[in-house]
Amino acid sequence: MTQRKAIIVGGSMAGLFAANMLYRAGWDVSVFERSPAPLSGRGTGIVTHAGMLALLRKAGVDTSGDLGVPLTRRLSIGKSGEVRAETRFEQILMGWSKLYALLQAALPRDVYHLNRSVCAVDCGSETQSPLVTCQSGRTDTADVVIAADGVRSAIREMLMPGESAVAAPYVAWRGMARMDALSRAAQQQLGQAFVVVTEPDEEMVTYPVLGDDGAVYINFVWYRLVTTEERVDLFSDSEGNHFPQGISPRAIKPEHALRARAAATELFHAHIAEVVEATPELLLQVIVDQTASRMTQGRVALIGDAAFVARPHVGQGVTKAGGDAWALTTCLSDPCASVVDALQRYNALRLPVGVSAVERARELGAVLIPACDTTPTMSRWRDHYLNATELLSDTAVELPGLAHV
Ligand SMILES: Cc1cc2nc3c(=O)[nH]c(=O)nc-3n(C[C@H](O)[C@H](O)[C@H](O)COP(=O)(O)OP(=O)(O)OC[C@H]3O[C@@H](n4cnc5c(N)ncnc54)[C@H](O)[C@@H]3O)c2cc1C
Repeated sequence: MTQRKAIIVGGSMAGLFAANMLYRAGWDVSVFERSPAPLSGRGTGIVTHAGMLALLRKAGVDTSGDLGVPLTRRLSIGKSGEVRAETRFEQILMGWSKLYALLQAALPRDVYHLNRSVCAVDCGSETQSPLVTCQSGRTDTADVVIAADGVRSAIREMLMPGESAVAAPYVAWRGMARMDALSRAAQQQLGQAFVVVTEPDEEMVTYPVLGDDGAVYINFVWYRLVTTEERVDLFSDSEGNHFPQGISPRAIKPEHALRARAAATELFHAHIAEVVEATPELLLQVIVDQTASRMTQGRVALIGDAAFVARPHVGQGVTKAGGDAWALTTCLSDPCASVVDALQRYNALRLPVGVSAVERARELGAVLIPACDTTPTMSRWRDHYLNATELLSDTAVELPGLAHV
């Protein structure tokens, strides 16, 4: 049997999982990544799950070494430092760059191509191979094309126009502070726990991760409810240019970062305010729900954020990407199924999983929405998660079936 060929568009988490898994299943794989330089995590942490570690092993990554910071405690603290809730939970927190490096190292170098931006895809059919066109004019065919091109997937837009992400009514400030820049008391508390704190219209999550330089950092994600006018202003630079899908840290108006730092001091316990203060550069992120009505067309399959994006409360972006890649690999490995049949099976398996991950994340995010703005169902979730123990227990925990292992 001739070796079958897959082109994977996008060389981040989903693309690397798919490339590694299909390569190990005997496929000839090529990854087309539009970035001209290797990707970098820009100071972000990833919450791991048992399913995600199993997926990494399926992708050929040795998970027996030191992956990140192991934690056993979860904590919620009030403004005066009072413990609102505490639970026991074992979890490893990784840096994004470490994960990317491990997945990259598992893949032969010559299959990963930087600076290859795909601008058109003909999705093919049972009898016709799909065709990929790059911005350079280069064209390639394969047995299957895998769209791993992220939340603003151009391939999804080509195949399913209008199925774009919808912004949540809140945004997130993110960042990482070196742990040794914090007071001893803050280090002791935040360096050993996954911390979730809510205040009206606010949610703050902190946890330690290993940085690219080997030092421990406290990573934070701070969700803030915003009005439409505030959102426009936050995502506009001083010249009035508006970047609704995301603003680079340098374009954020300095007064917004200053106000955020001051608000952290006003709202949260001093240890948490220290983290925000000691973070050199604050990042601002749009929080979205992305759902696709289907995950395949012809011989093209969508995986990872290109298909579904669940708000980060569930901490599942990477696990979902790996689970999609594994489900796709197992479907494509069926010797009795054509590529089109295999993709239909993949769609049937993963579509409900993506829908439920997005829904679960919305339920967790209900804690940020004022009671008057919620539907009765969301109002019940809001009340449920205003209980600090419930919120600690359900934030960033593995969702059944997501890893597909
Ligand atoms: C730099 C970075 C840091 C991140 N940090 C975190 C984090 O800390 N925590 C977390 O939960 N999630 C993080 N994410 C998102 C997380 O990695 C994703 O939710 C998850 O891993 C799924 O990734 P993905 O590969 O589907 O999408 P993405 O990570 O968005 O990757 C999509 C890739 O496709 C490439 N691409 C897009 N269009 C084209 C095209 N036309 N041609 C070729 N290539 C194209 C992009 O350059 C990108 O590399 C990060 C993503 C990135 C890129």
